[in-house]
Amino acid sequence: MDCIFCDIVSHKSPAWIIYQDNDITAFFDYFPASKGHLLIVPNIHNSDIYDVPDTTLQKIASLSKKIALFYKEHLDIPALNILQNNGQAAGQVVFHYHMHLIPRIPWDNITLWWTPDESHRDSYDELRDYIQKNFS
Ligand code: AMP
Ligand code: ZN
Repeated sequence: MDCIFCDIVSHKSPAWIIYQDNDITAFFDYFPASKGHLLIVPNIHNSDIYDVPDTTLQKIASLSKKIALFYKEHLDIPALNILQNNGQAAGQVVFHYHMHLIPRIPWDNITLWWTPDESHRDSYDELRDYIQKNFS
C-alpha cells in the first residue's frame, strides 16, 4: 500500500520523529500550523477512527497528554489544540489515522472555528431520544 505515514513509521521516508514504540509514532507535521505541530499515528495502517483498535487509541491519548505536559513544562507552550479528522468531508487528507497536536499562543491567527447554527437545537429532543434508545 502506498501510504506516506506507513513509510514514515518504517523509516522509508524522512520525518522528524520525536517518539516511537511498538504501537505508535509521533513526528512533526511537514506543513505545520505552528511551531511544534505534531502528529501521532498507529504503526499499523488504520485509516481512521472507525478502523483503530481501542488499545491503540488509548495509547495515542496517553501520549498526547504526556507531550502536552512536556510542551507546557519544558517549552513554555501553555495551550494547544488536539484534533483529528475522519473522512474527506471532515478535512482528512492522509488516510492513515493521525491525531494533531497544535501548539497555540494568543492571537496566532490560526483558525479552527465554525459559525454556530442554532437551528440544529430543534432536532435535539428527537436525536437524543433516538440515541438513548439505540446506543449501547
Ligand atoms: P489531515 O487533514 O488531518 O489528514 O492532515 C494531514 C496532515 O499530514 C497535514 O497537516 C499535513 O501537513 C501532514 N503531512 C502530509 N505529508 C506529511 C509528511 N510527509 N510528513 C509529515 N506530515 C505530513
Ligand atoms: Zn499507512
